[in-house]
Amino acid sequence: MRIVMKFGGTSVGSAERIAEAAKLAVASAEQGHEVVVVTSAMSGVTNTLIDAAQAAAKGQWDQTIAQKLLERHRDAASALASGDGSRESTAVDSIARRVDRFEKLCFGLSMVHELTPRLLDAISGTGEMLAAPLVAAAIEARGRTSCAIEATDVIVTTDHFGGAEPLMDETRRQAAATVLPVLAKGGIPVVTGFIGATADGVLTTLGRGGSDYSASIVGAAIDADEVWIWTDVNGVMTANPNEVPAARTLPEISYSEASELAYYGAKVLHYKTILPAFRQRIPVRILNSFNPSDRGTRVTVEGHPSATGVKAVTSIRGVSLIAVSGTGMQGIPGIVAKAFDVVAEEQTNVLMISQASSENNMCFVINSSDAARVVKALHSALEVEVMRGNVEEIVAQPVAVVAAIGDHMRGTPGIAATVFGALGGQGINVIAISQGSSERNISLVVEEKDASAAVRALHDAFHLEKTA
Ligand code: ADP
Ligand code: ASP
Ligand code: MG
Repeated sequence: MRIVMKFGGTSVGSAERIAEAAKLAVASAEQGHEVVVVTSAMSGVTNTLIDAAQAAAKGQWDQTIAQKLLERHRDAASALASGDGSRESTAVDSIARRVDRFEKLCFGLSMVHELTPRLLDAISGTGEMLAAPLVAAAIEARGRTSCAIEATDVIVTTDHFGGAEPLMDETRRQAAATVLPVLAKGGIPVVTGFIGATADGVLTTLGRGGSDYSASIVGAAIDADEVWIWTDVNGVMTANPNEVPAARTLPEISYSEASELAYYGAKVLHYKTILPAFRQRIPVRILNSFNPSDRGTRVTVEGHPSATGVKAVTSIRGVSLIAVSGTGMQGIPGIVAKAFDVVAEEQTNVLMISQASSENNMCFVINSSDAARVVKALHSALEVEVMRGNVEEIVAQPVAVVAAIGDHMRGTPGIAATVFGALGGQGINVIAISQGSSERNISLVVEEKDASAAVRALHDAFHLEKTA
């Protein structure tokens, strides 16, 4: 079998964890599988890089950051090389080159004071380039050939910095030239997650948490038989285990459930991960690198039906409800169209939409970081309607979205009643609600302070703590 294995930040967070990751990759290779590793940055590194870039852009460049990054990765390299000097120096040399480049970029930034999305990608993508040589060294220390491959030579993307999309035909060609030859020689290539490059070779990133996406892109590009996401929990669970201690692992979910869960806040998978795998029907597993014998979650076409119809509950914070309202909105055609034109022009992602049948109010949820911009743009696009008094108010309110998700909610009566009963029982006010016609998801807008209680109330009401 050809397997792409992705290790997340905590799974490569220290020399010990990297050694464990290498052990898992090598164990599969010893069983006769072809293994490609995709690695995240060591835990915390991407945040450090982004903070450093933002500080440098304000003229506050702290050189000790580069020194600390160098030390953390150099120490890990010497621990992982197990006394092999040339292996250690191969890793340390490429780490030192990358830290040097990071330092120069931040220094330049502290002079020009302008952090463009392109420059932020060049800086924030450094973490994976520092981690890959370490993972490769750890695999070699276990007696298998390995090499670090920067995904700038594998994943060809659009130039949408901070959220680039893969160009699959080009990526397939590149992967055939860089990744497959290593496999053909019996080696385990280690590809950096999170990053790619435009056709002109300019570094891009796929968005925060994007190494999962890298794994499925690489998997699709090399026709992998499976994609394994190694993380720090036993797979995809009925809720975020930090929020709901009774949450349990879902042994099997469908591609659509996985996408829906990820899109509505289950951080365990980047929300774009499923699509490249789904297109080629590549099964995805989510496994715990801290507990590798657990079977984790398998993502497949059918998923696994559950009795109640609701399989999991998620929540998204840091979002805002934009409401456009006015008693005169009734019967005025085109207000909704105008509003969504604005959203599209501002390149803003809409998480949910709801409109009351009275047509006096329409509302939608977007990331809070986009809210002020979108409200301003709406005011100018709907200037005439506001002047005429048809639209009275355009406002943004910070909220949370809580979603109940499951393929088999479709056609199961009484789910909405249970949802409202559960939230009502806890005295939680529902600000807006939306259910797509696919009936895989009921999403509710609540005040941010109520989000955790709402998730727990729904988890209890659908008895998700019980094994299906
Ligand atoms: P990695 O570094 O491996 O990519 P992440 O931190 O991105 O890991 O994702 C794993 C985390 O996702 C878990 O530790 C957990 O806190 C969180 N999480 C949120 N929702 C869920 C869920 N439904 N099932 C499992 N984990 C979840
Ligand atoms: N290191 C990147 C991040 O922290 C990508 C990832 O870990 O998936 O966002
Ligand atoms: Mg992640």
